Amino acid sequence: GATIGVLGGGQLGRMLANAGSELGYRFVTLDSTEHGPMGQVSEQIVAAYSDAEAARQLAQRSDVITYEFENVSAEVAGMLMQEAYVPQGNHLLYTTQHRLREKRAIEAAGVPVAPYREIATLEDLQQGVEQFGVPCVLKTATGGYDGKGQWVIRSTDELEEAFVTLSKAKTELVLEQFIHFKKEISVIAARSPQGEIKVFPAAENIHVSNILHLSIVPARISQELREQAEQLAVKIAQGLDAVGLIAVEMFVADGDRLYVNELAPRPHNSGHYTMEACRTSQFEQHVRAVCNLPLGDPSLTTPVVMVNVLGQHVAPLLERMAAEDPLAAELVVVPKVHLYGKADAVHNRKMGHVNVLATSIEAAMQWIEGTGIWQDEWNSWNK
Ligand code: ATP
Ligand code: MG
Ligand code: MG
Repeated sequence: GATIGVLGGGQLGRMLANAGSELGYRFVTLDSTEHGPMGQVSEQIVAAYSDAEAARQLAQRSDVITYEFENVSAEVAGMLMQEAYVPQGNHLLYTTQHRLREKRAIEAAGVPVAPYREIATLEDLQQGVEQFGVPCVLKTATGGYDGKGQWVIRSTDELEEAFVTLSKAKTELVLEQFIHFKKEISVIAARSPQGEIKVFPAAENIHVSNILHLSIVPARISQELREQAEQLAVKIAQGLDAVGLIAVEMFVADGDRLYVNELAPRPHNSGHYTMEACRTSQFEQHVRAVCNLPLGDPSLTTPVVMVNVLGQHVAPLLERMAAEDPLAAELVVVPKVHLYGKADAVHNRKMGHVNVLATSIEAAMQWIEGTGIWQDEWNSWNK
């Protein structure tokens, strides 16, 4: 079969390779960490993404190239386009690597984002905070994830400290109005090079300490809002000329207004539920899109709650897996465990997830609570 080359070799690449192998594809990753999540299940070129010679080797060994991580250099991706088939191109990568470029592109597609402004100086920040009031959120334009590289400004006393601290990242800053959202949701769309689009059902996302904790599907929002959110993702996929997956994170504000928070041009943590709960998983869908196959049916087949397994959850989860699970049988709950093969279970590090399939969201939530594994998270959001 054909070989798919992947820039990046974390858990997203691992799950992509697992799904794509089922369709007969071979995988090779370019990643600097040996025996990382993807390197354990595919071939690997061990080198940095910025290593031009290694990238050229990847191009030689691959029929199609994709990425599983949006901070691979758009330049390297551009260079690869000269030497191999890169159906996603590098333009969307370039756009989504930078919050300002991303917000401008979303607005140009006719989709609302939270009010924002570019911050270059402390004076800009002072004016911005006057404009938006407190709280408001200062973010680095590049490199942030899991809430790293952002500062919620709660008082004008913090301006200088926030500015100085985030400026150390040596990138532009962006200030956003704080959205007092009712819920956070996300929608993942897939688009093929011919422009075929399929959208996965909207997920309701609950974050704890800025890290995704739960994705609940179907999202507990009105049918109308669900359709609006899905339409909005289609508009973005078309407007930004996406190929492959594009994940759209949104805030649901008062009056059911939707604002896009950010995009990810790759499989997304909030789409892991699709692995057992949809007719086609996000990983299979991405492979289909970049390999020019017809897209699969994204329909949901069961209610599901995905819960992330962080470093601190691994030991209690393994303990539970080794024991009997009478509660699960009783509630007709099927917890499907996924672990990424990472060696050190560091606190708050993403080590795996559990897709809790159930006859209802309530039953899935009850199972999660009943395990006691996620007690700290549960206490902090479920007040
Ligand atoms: P990710 O891990 O999803 O890539 P990130 O570090 O890129 O996260 P964001 O998604 O921008 O950061 O923000 C993290 C979380 O912080 C959001 O999911 C949301 O809960 C909160 N947040 C971010 N921006 C705002 C805002 N303007 N108003 C209110 N809450 C916000
Ligand atoms: Mg992000
Ligand atoms: Mg986010």
